[in-house]
Amino acid sequence: MGVTLDLKRPALAPTPPGLPNLSGMTRAQMQAALVEHGAVDAGKARMRSSQIWRWIHNFGVTDFTGMTDIGKDTRAVLERDFSLGRPEVVERQVSRDGTRKWLIRFSPGVEAETVFIPGVGRAGALCVSSQVGCTLNCTFCHTGTQPLVRNLTSSEIVAQVQIARDDLGEWPSPAGERQLSNIVFMGMGEPLYNLDNVADAIEVISDNEGTAISRRRMTISTSGVVPEILRAGEVTQAMLAISLHAANDALRDELVPLNRKYPIAELMAAVRAYPGLSNARRVTFEYVMLKGINDSPADAKALVSLLTSIPAKINLIPFNPWPGSPYACSDWGTIEKFAGIINRAGYASPIRTPRGRDILAACGQLKSESEKVRASDLRRAERAT
Ligand code: SAH
Ligand code: SF4
Repeated sequence: MGVTLDLKRPALAPTPPGLPNLSGMTRAQMQAALVEHGAVDAGKARMRSSQIWRWIHNFGVTDFTGMTDIGKDTRAVLERDFSLGRPEVVERQVSRDGTRKWLIRFSPGVEAETVFIPGVGRAGALCVSSQVGCTLNCTFCHTGTQPLVRNLTSSEIVAQVQIARDDLGEWPSPAGERQLSNIVFMGMGEPLYNLDNVADAIEVISDNEGTAISRRRMTISTSGVVPEILRAGEVTQAMLAISLHAANDALRDELVPLNRKYPIAELMAAVRAYPGLSNARRVTFEYVMLKGINDSPADAKALVSLLTSIPAKINLIPFNPWPGSPYACSDWGTIEKFAGIINRAGYASPIRTPRGRDILAACGQLKSESEKVRASDLRRAERAT
């Protein structure tokens, strides 16, 4: 199969103009912004921004009027210089199995999907997008057929969590049991090509006086952007997942074209160096089961020998078809046999139950209609509104 490797970073559509949204700022960024805009005195900045922080991230407010313990003058500056609103949810779907999917419009023509999957992780996992579209073209992935529109900002990533919590009724942050317990960066896009925004969002979401989802319950999934893997571990302290899908370079070059740039040996070296790996904090290898392509017992054995001395678990993902996809999912018996070989070698190898297939919310099925538009067209559209 011919695949084009296009690693050029295309000119991204600009992020939307407008007031900066406080939701995506880390505590330090928010404190600095509040002082810079004269909303609070430098001497009281820490205390005031802590109060504002709790309103946003513990109570989920979407405007400044409800911040009853913040003085009128401060609120007036906040209203003038900052925003707190959510992006628009243009479509909400609920699967027969309880999976929920939201199509979110971040700015005109810039849309991405977020999926909540109950019964995954401690209670339920939110699969968030880090980009609209993707620069990589993995041949089995629906998102890969959509060119990169742009990176999502930190507040747009945080907004996905806020929108899910709005819908799940999880404000203020529940002290005990909660439905949304885990976050996986497995939606649209390659998180390691947007690491700064992903890292800021993780800092915001993990804060104990806010959404308070621990960094250990967040997983960044990468197709193998080797030069960013170590930094990702250092700045986020999140769990790592690697979309491996093949245990030899010839096949991985075809399925995950980024492998031509960063082959398996380099990828494995980067994984071994990931900070904090241990038997309690394993790296997850994702392996999509493609009928007749990567699912033989020999493939399973090659996979096992690649993992030597890595604390790992292997997530076998039955291939989820999408309109026009060139593959079929391996037979169930083949997947079980494959899992058995990995299991006998001492690695957990859960087979991921496909969730939300009826609403195209399963792994690799996400795609939005957003097209890359020229910046000049975007400016024209904005002037017209
Ligand atoms: N870009 C990142 C994260 C998003 S993809 C990455 O590639 O890791 C999330 C996971 O879904 C990846 O493991 C990806 O390989 C897998 N996936 C993509 N298309 C799929 C499909 N059609 N069926 C099953 N899994 C798929
Ligand atoms: Fe992009 Fe991940 Fe899909 Fe590959 S699998 S095209 S990296 S979103």
